[in-house]
Amino acid sequence: MNYLPIFIDITQKPCLVIGGGDIAYRKIKLLLKANAQVHCVSRAFCDGISQLAEEGTITATQKDFESSDINAQVLIVSATDDKVLNAEVSGLAKTANIPVNVVDAPDLCSFVIPSIVDRSPIVIAISSAGKAPVLARLIRAKLESTIPNAYGKLAELAGSFRAQVKAKFSNIEDRRYFWEKAFSGVVAEKVFAGKADEAKQDLQAQLDSSADSEMGEVYLVGGGPGDPDLLTFKALRLMQQADVILHDRLVSDEVMELVRRDAELIYVGKECHNHSVPQGDINQLLVDLAKQGRRVCRLKGGDPFIFGRGGEEIETLAENGVPFQVVPGITAASGCSTYSGIPLTHRDYSQSCRFVTGHLKDDTMNLPWDELAVEQQTIVFYMALKGAQHLSEQLQAHGMRGDMPLALVEKGTTPEHKVHTTTLAELPDVVADKAIRAPTLIIVGEVVKLREKLNWFDT
Ligand code: SAH
Repeated sequence: MNYLPIFIDITQKPCLVIGGGDIAYRKIKLLLKANAQVHCVSRAFCDGISQLAEEGTITATQKDFESSDINAQVLIVSATDDKVLNAEVSGLAKTANIPVNVVDAPDLCSFVIPSIVDRSPIVIAISSAGKAPVLARLIRAKLESTIPNAYGKLAELAGSFRAQVKAKFSNIEDRRYFWEKAFSGVVAEKVFAGKADEAKQDLQAQLDSSADSEMGEVYLVGGGPGDPDLLTFKALRLMQQADVILHDRLVSDEVMELVRRDAELIYVGKECHNHSVPQGDINQLLVDLAKQGRRVCRLKGGDPFIFGRGGEEIETLAENGVPFQVVPGITAASGCSTYSGIPLTHRDYSQSCRFVTGHLKDDTMNLPWDELAVEQQTIVFYMALKGAQHLSEQLQAHGMRGDMPLALVEKGTTPEHKVHTTTLAELPDVVADKAIRAPTLIIVGEVVKLREKLNWFDT
């Protein structure tokens, strides 16, 4: 370890910044975040620094640096482009034992300013000891994306309960168990959902009862169309904290790789016309598991509220008083069209877009064909592979041109992503000839032509 990471209290302490440009301004803002009393010395100041000085947030003196400027300072940052001056400041500060940072000159520093993930009061600092600042920033970006913004609030809440919890549990193990449950259960979820007051009440109730047989929770999570990079941060977090995962065929293997390692997996695989677990049983299973106090993630392909029967599943939960959350996912229409270079709307070709189920009931689709076979509209058919011939015939019978461009997107956004472009009239032949596999989405409309120019994914 080249440096010892420490967090230093500079609240209302004098800190000196030498330099008046944008970099100095950024350092000043950082010092101000930690409540420092900042003084800035430079021959000239950028607008930001001038404004801070004018409003009295910092003091600034327009002059050349002098050695006496470092007197009584607890921290010094030199952010000038004058190498000789930077070296002089560094030497003076080191002799006076004042921590000094010289921007972009690790050799002149006695401390480095790390990349910071700020979830105050939780603060994470990352340093590459000046060797690879860009890498440190990339790591920071990763952490930024995996640590919810509300962690700070959670830490504040925990802080306000700390003394009470310590008084209640004399044993450190018991305290740890209590906090682990609070940080990964309903209390944390309520904080993340912006329900601070409810979270506080729940934490108080948990502390008062210390009961561990409370109700669990269900997370109805949209797993997106396949590419795991299309998951939301919230989906990933809940997938990783659930005790049980109920998943089906539409959830890709790559997405399943990301669920909590030791979670129990229950496959409720669904194929059209072949429900391996009837919907009613799935609904009931969710209720039963939650009533056992378990955190259940019902993971669905795409978006749970778009042809996903998500509404039915949570209706049963609501009727049984089981708490639940719903996380939207990228629906197949959005993922498949984007990864195929087909914008669903376009000012020249399409002013509206319809998502339609092509599911066959008694070998027909009961759809308002007149409304679908109109100009300047994109239609996206879900579950329509079996009904391809029927939809081709009906759209043409209701006035749509036989040469209307059409795309079949097979296993969209996954490594097996495949796009077949054809026309409305030729659709049945393509489906018969090409051994197209589910899941496949059908996109009909002029916008399909744009793929020739805009295809970026499987070029
Ligand atoms: N809730 C899901 C849709 C479920 S209906 C969502 O929002 O995406 C199932 C249909 O979605 C499939 O028959 C297929 O038409 C479509 N679909 C889902 N994932 C797909 C994918 N990766 N590629 C192509 N079509 C997909």
